Amino acid sequence: MAVRKLFILPGDGIGPEAMAEVRKIIAYMNAELGAGFVTDEGLVGGSAYDAHGQAISEGDMAKALAADAVLFGAVGGPKWDAVPYEVRPEAGLLRLRKDLQLFANLRPAICYPALSAASSLKPELVEGLDILIVRELTGGVYFGEPKEIIDLGNGQKRGIDTQVYDTYEIERIAGVAFELARTRNNRVCSMEKRNVMKSGVLWNQVVNETHKAKYSDVQLEHMLADAGGMQLVRQPKQFDVIVTDNLFGDMLSDVAAMLTGSLGMLPSASLGAPDAVTGKRKALYEPVHGSAPDIAGKGIANPIAMIASFAMCLRYSFNLTKEADNLEKAIATVLDKGIRTGDIMAEGARQVGTIEMGETILAEFKALSA
Ligand code: NAD
Repeated sequence: MAVRKLFILPGDGIGPEAMAEVRKIIAYMNAELGAGFVTDEGLVGGSAYDAHGQAISEGDMAKALAADAVLFGAVGGPKWDAVPYEVRPEAGLLRLRKDLQLFANLRPAICYPALSAASSLKPELVEGLDILIVRELTGGVYFGEPKEIIDLGNGQKRGIDTQVYDTYEIERIAGVAFELARTRNNRVCSMEKRNVMKSGVLWNQVVNETHKAKYSDVQLEHMLADAGGMQLVRQPKQFDVIVTDNLFGDMLSDVAAMLTGSLGMLPSASLGAPDAVTGKRKALYEPVHGSAPDIAGKGIANPIAMIASFAMCLRYSFNLTKEADNLEKAIATVLDKGIRTGDIMAEGARQVGTIEMGETILAEFKALSA
């Protein structure tokens, strides 16, 4: 039987509450579907700081590096607002991204039919929406050097960030986007600002070359990132996969996310390069939301973003496509039945807490897997 190593980092706030519902799905898949998950669990964020004085311990980092996939809940909260900058809760997540070299961030924006009325756009514009934003995560202006504030000596200061991309960084993120497009509707839209940025000119060239060399079966178009932002809110269903850099991806993925309703619904995946020997990619799966200290401990958090992140894990780390489809279908069915947590509550629906939402989704998943 396949052994699939999962390292679980529930984190802080609602992270552990949402992760508890995923653990039930893992237990079911091991017991009834022979999934062969071997799980280990660690601490990250404030909980790791309380235990070790670090946002993640070296031991837990080693476990994350050895796992096939990391499941991450959320970190942070007012309790740790005043801890030193280097050990703040988010430092644990940044260390994981850096050491696992997770250069590709995948943010699906899916609008479940039952929630189309919750979008800020007209229901007909978002109903059935299913787009995937592939954001470059380890390069670009957030990391480029020089990055500093210098004193100009005349009472003025200058803040400097550097947007920098090398060919290999663009090639590998474009490759991820093309490969994912092949598993979907086979269309990629690349977004940059080649009209005003040299890095955009190179981005555009390298995406074209990568496409020509290896992925000419995929339909490719280009859009300036600002026009892309407009199109995302004007006619979002025109897109399948969008590939873009770190900065534009940060903004465009948040815009796309909000087309679909609540933060409690949004999963994400971050992937690294394939291992030279095993071909497996390092990977981390996490909901987009934070630790939601305002509702933590109340049993009312929406676990769907965390469960949908696990569905992405099934799909991208373990190639369990049917199981991933079934888990996503289970979420849609539960929503169709009018079952809602408070954040997505609608008139006429039945409000439930975290555990009931998780267990209802599991029951649907079991029915679909039978
Ligand atoms: P947040 O995402 O935690 O919460 C924003 C709002 O959305 C809150 O009102 C919250 O109750 C609600 N919400 C979020 N997830 C929900 C869910 N699953 N179900 C129901 N409601 C949900 O963002 P914030 O309030 O800006 O940040 C809180 C803490 O989380 C901060 O310490 C912040 O630094 C941290 N944070 C962590 C991550 C991460 O771990 N990746 C991401 C963002 C923020």
